[in-house]
Amino acid sequence: MTSLLPLWIAIAAVVVVAVVVVAILASRKGRAPVLPEPAVAEVVPAAEASVQPPEEVAPEAPEQPASRMVRLRRRLASSQNGLARALADLLSADKLDAATWDGFETTLLAADLGVGPTTELVQALRAKLGVEGISDPVKARQILHDELLALTDPGLDRSLNLEHTPGVPAVVLMVGVNGTGKTTTVGKLARLLVAQGMTVLLGAADTFRAAATEQLTTWGSRVGVETVGGAEGADPASVAFKAIERGIADGTDVVIVDTAGRLHTKVGLMDELGKVKRVIEKQAPVGEVLLVIDATTGQNGLVQARIFAEVVDVTGLVLTKLDGSAKGGIVVSVQRELGVPVKLVGLGEGADDLAPFDADQFVTGLLGE
Ligand code: GDP
Repeated sequence: MTSLLPLWIAIAAVVVVAVVVVAILASRKGRAPVLPEPAVAEVVPAAEASVQPPEEVAPEAPEQPASRMVRLRRRLASSQNGLARALADLLSADKLDAATWDGFETTLLAADLGVGPTTELVQALRAKLGVEGISDPVKARQILHDELLALTDPGLDRSLNLEHTPGVPAVVLMVGVNGTGKTTTVGKLARLLVAQGMTVLLGAADTFRAAATEQLTTWGSRVGVETVGGAEGADPASVAFKAIERGIADGTDVVIVDTAGRLHTKVGLMDELGKVKRVIEKQAPVGEVLLVIDATTGQNGLVQARIFAEVVDVTGLVLTKLDGSAKGGIVVSVQRELGVPVKLVGLGEGADDLAPFDADQFVTGLLGE
């Protein structure tokens, strides 16, 4: 019996171990349903979502060009535009004496109409209103309208040259000093063209400014347009080349290329923009070079714009921030100064606040008609 004792101890130990193991397993099994299942369910998709592409957003429907111009007219009429005020003051003057004409001339100059156009306008109005007088307000207003319209050169071709052969996109190159609203204008222009039924691709060749590519991509995706970009500091010409290559592959109607507007040196600027343009032209002709000018910068903006016009053949002007400018006269002076028509105007920060420029609507807006 005594010799069997170790055997009994061994059996008892095995039984104890078995009971403990069964108890542990039973307790685990019992706990399993208590596990917070919803928590597991939430964690998994969240982790997957972070690696998934962003949700497709239905593209916005941009506003048609015609109704945009109507809004521009209203904004000009209601703004504190110096030019509009000068015209209103003249029309409501008691008499047209020397002091009235002097005041009129000063206000026109302050509204950035420029010395040449101001002198011309005052001379023409003195000759006509001096004879006709302002006693007939309808007639006086008509004379003002006609003279202002003549100054804005209504005969200029302001349409964008977007002609292209099948399989090769039309190319619009956007140039101008940083901060004038270039990138914003590229985005707005894409919307305007999409509204007219065109397919558009954006080239983010402003690789100098870190946020420019991202800013452009956001604009593009809102209206369902793709953006070709490069890393910060990448060669702008190579980004432009890739954009055109992609445009050709996709059969896109128009590629709009944004550029950096560093006025470091005139030679540096010429080299950079010249290279971008040459590289694009290896694949497609550049139909439009649009120079973006901030209307609120007045004569200073004009000096900078002139440098751009000297280094690259500008085909059209875009005047931005006309909504915030008291100096509507810049439309006339900038066009005269650079010998290039104003083709588009920016009239606010909203996505559809860009309109094709229309001289008659502009003058009508200024006169508050
Ligand atoms: P970029 O450096 O030339 O590319 O300039 P951005 O496109 O980044 O624009 C600079 C600022 O001008 C931004 O805050 C824009 O919202 C603003 N901006 C652009 N166009 C207009 C416009 O027509 N009216 C107003 N009020 N602001 C504008």
